[in-house]
Amino acid sequence: MTGHSHVVTSLTLGAVVTFYDVGLDFSWSFAIGIAIGSLLPDIDEPKSFIGRKCPFVSNFLKRVFGHRGLTHSALITAIIFMVSEQFDSTIISGLAYGYLFHVLGDFFSRRGVALLAPLSKKRFAAPITYKTNGWGEKMIAFVCYLFWIYWLFDILRLSEISLLFSINNILAFFILL
Ligand SMILES: [Zn+2]
Repeated sequence: MTGHSHVVTSLTLGAVVTFYDVGLDFSWSFAIGIAIGSLLPDIDEPKSFIGRKCPFVSNFLKRVFGHRGLTHSALITAIIFMVSEQFDSTIISGLAYGYLFHVLGDFFSRRGVALLAPLSKKRFAAPITYKTNGWGEKMIAFVCYLFWIYWLFDILRLSEISLLFSINNILAFFILL
């Protein structure tokens, strides 16, 4: 997935997660954490948004572990989650969720991710996949953008109660999909 697809899909998944009440509200700090976290795993790709910001780390990680290697592993994702739980901070919780959603997003791409890194370089992918930057990815991102446009319109237009109803409806639609 491209950077902006990761951000928008992760924010959408974050909204779904908080809807199911994991003791978190979809606050600004949580959303910012998700957005940052959803870009972090691609630090192993020098051409990515985050990789361009830290070329030395990025080149090192790519050379040693390969793109979608260690930074996309279940081990690192679990460590980030465990560390995040030591802090009572919504931005850090968001960061951990964003990281997880990024790895999940790449797991659904055709090239998959090295979930068992550093033990194995074997890549794993979901049974149904999309091609990176292909029409499948664009459709997923488009639906997520629609979700946010609709939601933002509702925030501006409707009362709090009807907003809750409409979020309910959007989420019900996603679940039916
Ligand atoms: Zn990635």
